[in-house]
Amino acid sequence: MCIFCDLANGRIKTYKIYDDDECCAFLDISQATYGHCLVVPKEHFDDIFSLDEEVGAHLFKVAVTLAKKLKEKLQLEGINILNNNGEVAGQTVKHYHIHLIPRYKADDVLIEFKSNKLSDKDFEDLVEKLK
Ligand code: 5GP
Ligand code: ZN
Repeated sequence: MCIFCDLANGRIKTYKIYDDDECCAFLDISQATYGHCLVVPKEHFDDIFSLDEEVGAHLFKVAVTLAKKLKEKLQLEGINILNNNGEVAGQTVKHYHIHLIPRYKADDVLIEFKSNKLSDKDFEDLVEKLK
């Protein structure tokens, strides 16, 4: 049983702002900021590691369209697009989803990255591993 399967496929009521054959977007129950919504595939994928690439491409296309719509309709000044994969990354619902979090000057959201230094050799080794 997966709550997002039920929400995305209309078996449980939710506040949908977008709907097509492959995915939908609904308002997050816990509004990190006003207008916080989730883009969710109708088919179940646990996370990005099992996500079909074509579905992923479609979801991001919808996220781009919705970001523009949110900017037009709400008085937002920025937006964070966020996708958590795995418990260690903060994923709490194991059905792939993309967060759209509108940002306002006075909001209290803090997204911060710590800076870690690498030597040139470490950067080169990393490129060798990943390219
Ligand atoms: P995650 O932590 O997995 O990246 O994000 C899960 C998100 O789903 C959270 O922001 C949480 O508020 C939201 N959420 C959890 N259960 C429900 C629900 O039943 N309905 C809606 N609309 N959002 C939910
Ligand atoms: Zn699911």
